[in-house]
Amino acid sequence: MYSVTCESSFDAAHFLSNYKGKCHNIHGHRWKVIVCIKGELDNGMVVDFGIVKAYLKELCDFFDHSFIVEKGSLNKETLNLLKEEFLIREVDFRTTAENFSKYFFDKVNDKYKCLYAEVYETPTNCARYICE
Ligand SMILES: [Zn+2]
Repeated sequence: MYSVTCESSFDAAHFLSNYKGKCHNIHGHRWKVIVCIKGELDNGMVVDFGIVKAYLKELCDFFDHSFIVEKGSLNKETLNLLKEEFLIREVDFRTTAENFSKYFFDKVNDKYKCLYAEVYETPTNCARYICE
């Protein structure tokens, strides 16, 4: 079996509700996303890098320069006021690197055989969701 990896990134703000520590407050990261796709060779390739890279970029661009908010973690008035001023992306999960790695794994796995997805929230902190 072969595998190929593709990388993309986005800049976005988030915070963690019900968390005691610095990440309780709104802050930003350059989130780096790496996905690994497995498979056998077809015409010498697992997949076309260009097509995977474009798809991953599209997934990352959705969040780029946004404020990512877990649904239900802000009161409605605050959220509505923020929506008037900023690009808000609401997600169904707590905005940890671990949950983002599962999010990107699932998105990529819809189209390809994903082996794992990694999400870095700093250059040295990374979470990985691996195909079971
Ligand atoms: Zn953070």
